[in-house]
Amino acid sequence: MRLKGKVAIVTGGARGLGKAYAMGLSREGARVVIADVLDTKEARQAIEKQGGEVLALHTDVSDEKSTNEMAQRAIESFGRIDVLINNAAIFASIVKKPFYELSGQEWDDVIRVNLKGTFLCCKAVYPQMKKQGRGKIINISSGTWFKGATHFIHYVTSKAGVVGLTRALAREIGVDGISVNAVAPGFTLSEAVREKPMDTDEMVRAVAESRCFKRDEQPNDLIGTILFLACEDSDFITGQTIVVDGGSAMH
Ligand code: NAD
Repeated sequence: MRLKGKVAIVTGGARGLGKAYAMGLSREGARVVIADVLDTKEARQAIEKQGGEVLALHTDVSDEKSTNEMAQRAIESFGRIDVLINNAAIFASIVKKPFYELSGQEWDDVIRVNLKGTFLCCKAVYPQMKKQGRGKIINISSGTWFKGATHFIHYVTSKAGVVGLTRALAREIGVDGISVNAVAPGFTLSEAVREKPMDTDEMVRAVAESRCFKRDEQPNDLIGTILFLACEDSDFITGQTIVVDGGSAMH
């Protein structure tokens, strides 16, 4: 119970990796806020079933009014905010295509949610974390930007931006006792990826082959690193990006 008494917000927590993080944080004793544009009922019930306390919110991370409300509701319900996992993103719905076929609108939509959304959520929780004199922000990047993965350049660029934001914000708010780190998952067989594969079986096999550990990545492979960054064990670590991909990308 490394997070007993703590409150953690997980954006994009209705399904997939976000839901897995929320369930993992809850098992460690945290009270969890899941914030998503999707229906959060299933995730909420899954957390309650394992005995956890959860607040489920309809939140659009790209809308400042909505992110401020998210922070406000978390404070009203649980009295504090200790951890923010910026996991919400436009990802599984992306149809891969060459960069010159991408419209300006597609570019804007992905940058607005994945990058501006991360910024807005950090901004929303900051006053409370500052007041508490401590906080843990964990931004979800991706292994794709290490590799320059092709055919979803808007996504790859947004996840590179998340690393820049992580470093700059860590320097700015370390003085307030708040750590800002990023996790870069490799290609992971999350719920949405399983339901609607973005890549051919051959490409998925090639990703597994590129790793030191030659297998597919599963949501559970990420939980330990998220918990580590969320709890006191990582208290002197900030501004870092941890790649969790079985040893494919290295930096
Ligand atoms: P996913 O698409 O199922 O999860 C994204 C979640 O964000 C969904 O629940 C979605 O509803 C939510 N969301 C989208 N727009 C939102 C908005 N405006 N406001 C609030 N919530 C919003 O995909 P996933 O595989 O579970 O990925 C989760 C995270 O991990 C994403 O940040 C993704 O970029 C990252 N990631 C995934 C992989 C992978 O291979 N699965 C690899 C690297 C990084």
